[in-house]
Amino acid sequence: MTSQDSTDSTDSRRDGPTKPSRRTFLSAATVTAAATAAAPLAGASAASAATAGGPSGPGRPIRPQSPDRELRELLREIDQRRIEAIVRRLAEFGTRHTLSSQDDPVRGIGAARDWIYQQMQGYAARSGGRMTVELQSYVQEPASRIPVPTRITNVVATLRGETSPDRIYVVTGHYDSRCTDVMDATSDSPGADDDASGVAVAMELARLMATRRSEATIVFAAVAGEEQGLYGSGYMARQYKAAGADVQGMFSDDIVGSSTADDGTRDRRTLRLFAEGVPTAETPAEGNTRRSVGGENDSPSRQLARYVSDVADNDSTGMRVRVIYRRDRYLRGSDHISFLEQGYPAGRFTEPNEDFAHQHQDVRVVDGKQYGDLPEFCDFEYITRVAKVNAAALWSLAQAPGTPKGVTIVTTNLTNDTQLRWTRGTEPDLAGYEVVWRETTAPEWTHVIPVGDVTTTTIDLSKDNVFFGVRAVDTAGHRSPVAFPRPGS
Ligand SMILES: [Zn+2]
Repeated sequence: MTSQDSTDSTDSRRDGPTKPSRRTFLSAATVTAAATAAAPLAGASAASAATAGGPSGPGRPIRPQSPDRELRELLREIDQRRIEAIVRRLAEFGTRHTLSSQDDPVRGIGAARDWIYQQMQGYAARSGGRMTVELQSYVQEPASRIPVPTRITNVVATLRGETSPDRIYVVTGHYDSRCTDVMDATSDSPGADDDASGVAVAMELARLMATRRSEATIVFAAVAGEEQGLYGSGYMARQYKAAGADVQGMFSDDIVGSSTADDGTRDRRTLRLFAEGVPTAETPAEGNTRRSVGGENDSPSRQLARYVSDVADNDSTGMRVRVIYRRDRYLRGSDHISFLEQGYPAGRFTEPNEDFAHQHQDVRVVDGKQYGDLPEFCDFEYITRVAKVNAAALWSLAQAPGTPKGVTIVTTNLTNDTQLRWTRGTEPDLAGYEVVWRETTAPEWTHVIPVGDVTTTTIDLSKDNVFFGVRAVDTAGHRSPVAFPRPGS
């Protein structure tokens, strides 16, 4: 282990292969950005800021959003011992298979459900009435991997927002588990990495955020039925959709427990975030627009992923967020897909390199090698940093204004500039808006133009040649995710 430790001692965000161009660009731009960052929202007449290697045009180089004092304090309170205790306790239920016993007090998914519910209720008791905990339950009729009618129960803790309660952000882990045979409901399946680790992240954040006041609503859920076919999260997402809920971001933490690859190498400071391009729920009309003017790299989920990089890939989390431009890994899926199917922006966090000897495996020893998803193969320091990334993302989202709505790029006439308009948000601390843009070939936004508290602006740059977006800013400088405009009048 020591030789692996020494390779790992270098911060992977500095030597990692996938993101040097952005970081190099940003650091080169820091001097310019620092000069203008402190200024309040200026008019649209921001000076041109040609940057080393970047495109030239209006605005200044964009830079990540640093955590404020309140968020840094929250991140420091994330408790590795509690996370480890949750993972070990969940493994002790023997199996948490969706078809296992629902009324045995010691073994099976019912006992796990009741324990999670009790813990969440304990957190909510300290929330001053802001957090409520619900057993969200339905009976799944026989279907794929469900041979008999089966009750599926999600444990859902909701921290109601103070000023924008109707705007919702969701984090989930799935508490069901499996072994080699996905229909085996009795053999041991400790499910420590998959996915007690994700449940522990959601629970630890629920505990810490319960005692804080959030502007928007944050939901922390342990969902069931994932291994059988995303049943619990599917039900949850459909309930939100049926209620017309405004879910502006959802994260599935699934297999976030280990930093060790199957060849033994370790990468303790990288977390993958899978984010789809073309939206799963795209309508035919939206598809026509996309084919006409582009946008396959600008789905709401991609904007959400860029946002996570901006607020959570930094020294305060100690983690590099490696965004991957696809919905999920080959042959795999997770609960974010349930939300994508309902048209909600969503992504999946997962560890950097997986070891398939410790996922979906019967607990056994073969030729001296231990198989099975046991707590001993988890890295609790790593899970703690995963929780920090989630906390930075969720807390930043929920304290910022919502993603701008009704963002339109005006196309009534042929022009060589760009007119944008949008609907003003209702947040009491809303300060105004920023237009962002980038070359069409760039993966991430490169320039920002503060435009003030307006709902329309014209930028002296051709919409034919670059991509534009709009984001909201509050009086404390918290930014929303970017909204990608649709053409219109
Ligand atoms: Zn899983």
